[in-house]
Amino acid sequence: MGSLSRINASAATLTKNRTEDSIVPLSGMCVTCVDGCIGMCEIGKSAYRGHEVLYPQPFGIITAASEKNYPIDYSHFNIMGSAVGAYGIEPDPDKAIFPNVNLEQRIGHDKGIKVRLPIVVPGLGSTNVAKNNWDGIAVGAAISGIIMTIGENVAAMDMETEIKNGRVVRAPDLEYRVKAYKQWQRDGYGTIVVQANVEDTRLGVQEYAIEKLGVEAVELKWGQGAKDIGGEVKIKDLKKAQELRKRGYIVLPDPLDPDVIKAFEKRTFTEFERHSRIGMVELESFVKRVEELRKAGAKYVFLKTGAYRPADLARAVKYASIAKIDLLTVDGAGGGTGMSPWHMMNEWGVPPVELHSLTYFYADKLAKKGEYVPAIAFAGGIAFEDQIFKALALGAPYVKLVGMARSIVCAAMVGKTIGKKIEEGEIPVFVERFGNQKEEIFVTAAKLKKELGKDFEKLSTGAIGVYTYLERIAQGLRQLMCGNRKFSLEYITRNDIAALTREAAEVSGIPYVTELDKEEAEKILEGKAT
Ligand code: SF4
Repeated sequence: MGSLSRINASAATLTKNRTEDSIVPLSGMCVTCVDGCIGMCEIGKSAYRGHEVLYPQPFGIITAASEKNYPIDYSHFNIMGSAVGAYGIEPDPDKAIFPNVNLEQRIGHDKGIKVRLPIVVPGLGSTNVAKNNWDGIAVGAAISGIIMTIGENVAAMDMETEIKNGRVVRAPDLEYRVKAYKQWQRDGYGTIVVQANVEDTRLGVQEYAIEKLGVEAVELKWGQGAKDIGGEVKIKDLKKAQELRKRGYIVLPDPLDPDVIKAFEKRTFTEFERHSRIGMVELESFVKRVEELRKAGAKYVFLKTGAYRPADLARAVKYASIAKIDLLTVDGAGGGTGMSPWHMMNEWGVPPVELHSLTYFYADKLAKKGEYVPAIAFAGGIAFEDQIFKALALGAPYVKLVGMARSIVCAAMVGKTIGKKIEEGEIPVFVERFGNQKEEIFVTAAKLKKELGKDFEKLSTGAIGVYTYLERIAQGLRQLMCGNRKFSLEYITRNDIAALTREAAEVSGIPYVTELDKEEAEKILEGKAT
């Protein structure tokens, strides 16, 4: 096996090699590093921009994810179709058709949260790319009937937020985000979740969201997929950097230091970095915090954990069981919207298939002992219907949802961009062949118009983009499930996928493809079964 990572040059850090065809695999350096090169590679750029080159760029208008080629991924499994039978519907070719596949799911201790599609958007927080696309992402999620999570730091990053005695008493940005989703929810599908990190918890953000904004679901968070050191963003404004420092964040360099202020004013540097703290997970305080949130009025309490080591995953599963959490999201080291250090994003934690497989084993162990197992969501690079199916099968029967964030932000941004191009009358040729009005370009527009009536005009093209992308996902998933003869999500089992490599089989416990159905095939051949 060759090197799994390409280092020292990536579109993520806007770097490249001088000798692009001759690279040392270990260091990623050009085979000949020549005196006189201006240094377009990551080492070269670090020689003049230092720590700035730790992060994917340009910050604020991108989402980013690891490009490491992990030994196993979801392409190492195939979905198994069948020629016989139908689960969840009459085995009648006129009835067992793909539009009749039911994708609805219910989660929560009382099964009180219903979704039209088994998807949760797991946490888009204070980053500009989330903020600037909220109308598309959250409204698109709401009209599609999936769960939307507001990520960490939103209240404290908002300069309009009012804090009294160390607690948030008014948070306009958080309020806008909650309302944007709630206003567009249809028939009670989906729910809006407010996540918290160390700083949010200290500021009482979740209590505020429950009491003042009517939020029913809150999420505790242990790190995240792309990074485990807490959220980071860049701040271009000195006053904002100073205020955030006062609100308890780590801000680098220190915006209250007179020498730093002078350097910033001279434009020696143009951005501060805001970092969050790492949490200190401990069973007693975890259970206590869950109880506090329930007492404050939270109807549902979720936990999201990142790609930590296996013992921490075991802690997440066990603690979620003890505290009777309503949803546990297990996020593989995929990516995100924040300022995750690029090498951390690539070289960190347990990769998705391994992480998801371990989650299944741990949940199954508890279930077999009769212990409570919460609904689980798998996340980490999931963007298409086949991956959704495979993730639901790998973790069945415990996995009820998948987490998808980057692909949904992508759909929102593309929808928004097309909307702008329509307004400017500069529709790219690639899109123009479908028409020059949103009703012509977006294939779901007629259906949405009929369902929403005059509200359709208030819908942003970003939201239409998310809805349309999810409509494709829904139809694709229905087709896969129909071919698999499963007409409702509850019938998907681990037996519905097969491993294509011995390694994938060993890691996941999913049989190697030619070993699947061994006994049944034998019986059929012996004439003992039909
Ligand atoms: S600085 Fe050296 S390693 Fe980097 S691009 Fe130039 S020659 Fe290649």
